[in-house]
Amino acid sequence: MDKIPSFQKDHDNLQPGFHFSGYNCGVATFDLRFKKPNAGDFLSPAALHSVEHMMATALRNGAFREHIVYFGPMGCRTGFYLLTADLSFDDAFAAAKAALEACARFDAVPGAERRECGNYLEHDLAGAKAECAAYRALLCSLPAEALAAERAAMEAAK
Ligand SMILES: [Zn+2]
Repeated sequence: MDKIPSFQKDHDNLQPGFHFSGYNCGVATFDLRFKKPNAGDFLSPAALHSVEHMMATALRNGAFREHIVYFGPMGCRTGFYLLTADLSFDDAFAAAKAALEACARFDAVPGAERRECGNYLEHDLAGAKAECAAYRALLCSLPAEALAAERAAMEAAK
């Protein structure tokens, strides 16, 4: 089988950040990389699971909700995928940042009742909020050149 494009990147060179990954069937994929790959620091399974519930809820209630195709965790527990339709790089970035800010205001993990979730005991609200806050701070500290490079990569891929 052919290796898919996301396995062709050297993960040892991947830094935490907000990366445009590619287009599939007109849908843009972003890597919301919370953690540096293979550096020994991963999201805990419970925090990863809660961030998934919280961010999916926040994104689907946010200003760009009509453009959110999917939000879900990376199996390696270093981040998440955000899939969008008809959204510019800047709007996708703004949607993610606004959702992270909304997550700070949750006082419960949405959809964490037994009938709503496949592993309802494995949640960590405080851990998820801490990961979202740390990632939001990282996004705010990204140099303009790093964002410009991602924006250009997305424009070139169109
Ligand atoms: Zn769940």
